[in-house]
Amino acid sequence: MGKRVFGMSEKKRNRELGMHCPITRRDFLNGVAIGAGGLLVADPALAALVVEETAPEKAAGYYPPALTGMRGNHNGTFTYAHRLRDGKRWDSVGAAAKSGETYDLVVVGGGISGLAAAHFYRKRAGKSARILVLDNHDDFGGHAKRNEFKAGGRMLLSYGGTQSMESPGEYSEVAKGLLAELGIQTERFYKAYDQNLYSKLGTAAFFDKETFGADRLVTGMNSTAWPEFLAQAPLSAIARRDIARVYTERVDYLPGLSKQEKLAKLGKISYADYLVKYCKLTPEALPFFQTFTHDLFCVGIEAVSAAACYRAGDDYQSFTYPGFDGLGFPEHEKEEPYIFHFPDGNATVARLLVRALIPGAVPGGTMDDVVTARADYSKLDDTNAAVRIRLNSTVVHVQHAKGANAGKDVEVAYVREGNLASIQAKKCVLACYNGMIRYLCPELPEKQKEALSYLVKAPLVYTHVALRNWTAFHKLGVHHIVAPGGYHTYTALDFPVSLGQYQFPSNPEEPMVLFMLRTPCRPGLSPRNQHRAGRMELMQTPFATFERNIRDQLARMLGGAGFDAARDIEGITVNRWAHGYAFTPNALFDPDWKEEEKPWVIGRKRFGSIAIANSDAGANAYTNVAIDQAHRAVMELAEARS
Ligand SMILES: Cc1cc2nc3c(=O)[nH]c(=O)nc-3n(C[C@H](O)[C@H](O)[C@H](O)COP(=O)(O)OP(=O)(O)OC[C@H]3O[C@@H](n4cnc5c(N)ncnc54)[C@H](O)[C@@H]3O)c2cc1C
Repeated sequence: MGKRVFGMSEKKRNRELGMHCPITRRDFLNGVAIGAGGLLVADPALAALVVEETAPEKAAGYYPPALTGMRGNHNGTFTYAHRLRDGKRWDSVGAAAKSGETYDLVVVGGGISGLAAAHFYRKRAGKSARILVLDNHDDFGGHAKRNEFKAGGRMLLSYGGTQSMESPGEYSEVAKGLLAELGIQTERFYKAYDQNLYSKLGTAAFFDKETFGADRLVTGMNSTAWPEFLAQAPLSAIARRDIARVYTERVDYLPGLSKQEKLAKLGKISYADYLVKYCKLTPEALPFFQTFTHDLFCVGIEAVSAAACYRAGDDYQSFTYPGFDGLGFPEHEKEEPYIFHFPDGNATVARLLVRALIPGAVPGGTMDDVVTARADYSKLDDTNAAVRIRLNSTVVHVQHAKGANAGKDVEVAYVREGNLASIQAKKCVLACYNGMIRYLCPELPEKQKEALSYLVKAPLVYTHVALRNWTAFHKLGVHHIVAPGGYHTYTALDFPVSLGQYQFPSNPEEPMVLFMLRTPCRPGLSPRNQHRAGRMELMQTPFATFERNIRDQLARMLGGAGFDAARDIEGITVNRWAHGYAFTPNALFDPDWKEEEKPWVIGRKRFGSIAIANSDAGANAYTNVAIDQAHRAVMELAEARS
């Protein structure tokens, strides 16, 4: 007999949750992938032709956005990169076939930063500049990926990672200029984003049995008076009393300090410590707040400074951080609303970049028609085109050439379909994960490699679930659910945006995409070690485990409103970002570096004909940073030339 779950056999529970139900879980590697893997062709020109002819991207039906199941850093992307990490030689897969291809610029990494670098370079060098972008994923965009679902007979769009343009009014002139060149008019979102649709729906908190002793969904969070809301929660009387108190009283918990001293103090204590030691919250109440910081910081409140929580303010996701109202700080300045969201998130920014670089690859010409345009992957790597994007290609070695043009040209080796190939370029931008560059480019100075190794990325999971309808949410009167102890700690109905031909499902009877967030953490370790441990966890968790947890959690949260996991789930995509947000300094754990000592500043130094981009190089996980860093890298190469 199987393990018993809530008084019933696991087999029965699995059946009830619909683990047997036919949703699409197609895995690209087992699906349409065909290619030149294993073919040995002696003549380099012929080898290039064979690769070209048999490229998986040219296969009929090659369309990664429609793949469901495990996405994000999907299987096949990390095989060769991890071999390097584990000390294997870059050429251990065999001798590199020199295809004879030469480029003005090779960009490693086809995320927004890499694509923007290609764009900026071409703008300076002219349309005839030969550029190749290499990426290890089956799709371009890096974190800015498009998820498509078929549900209820229609196409639903969603985002695999990079979600929205946050405060685009504050972007640099370079980033604003790029958006304008791509045809993005951010003011259009004031109309495209329906800011009224969810206005009558609020936030619920789900208290799970494992953490709080009983499963209970309590609606009215942040909208009902706190004592009334908490009266429904499975918390002790003292925990309820203290949570309500810190949310409502306006007490100066740091008396006798100036505002500046208060901010400095808050910068050096964790939010958990602030709540317990200064606001006198009972430690019993901490589990309620523990995961509030997961989305922004990828660690819990024990590892985020109170100052960072204060600055995060009342963010768009219903997490309000109490304890600051009586400190005498000025009101938070009103920010731009969080509405700058294409139906596939910032995947549209990547798709518009590709449209600009490779005419015909993404049909159309406006920010409206791009939303439903189907990208033609067979056009990405065309022999006759000046700009090419080669997917499914992991770069394993980058070094300045020997022989003719020694020290100037760059040789780039990559593995594609199990074969090692090598190409030559005049310049190279590494817009890939900065932490990996030390393995790719051993000729970098030791100090720079050491600095790059500091930049540990934060892992997180963006799960999307296509539902038959969203009547359960409507019935409950919620569009967000905060689940402090849940496998996924936050669940939300998709952003209500209609643009071009794409109409958002505004009727509860229509199919809907649900967003669920998971951040694997290990409280007690430093953030960088939590990220390392979380990454390991993600890599070892099979899709079936995610699926079971998703079904179980949705059934437990929404079952009371008529939701049936076996009947109502039409598709699941788990965007597993083992390598997620860029490293961002944490005041509690990282030194207070001077500008020139910052590891990302040392790490991004140009080295000969190689420059370094990616949001990692700006230590900030934002699209504008990815663009700004691309621009800096290209300018550095241009200045070096002149
Ligand atoms: C889940 C998630 C949500 C986010 N939400 C937002 C948001 O709402 N707004 C926002 O502004 N930012 C958001 N971000 C931050 C996001 O990282 C940046 O906005 C931006 O998309 C980063 O672009 P990039 O090109 O710098 O890096 P990436 O998108 O990571 O692209 C780098 C690419 O290089 C590839 N690569 C790495 N090594 C190699 C190699 N050896 N060979 C070939 N290719 C390689 C990678 O696989 C990847 O495809 C989010 C990030 C994540 C993970």
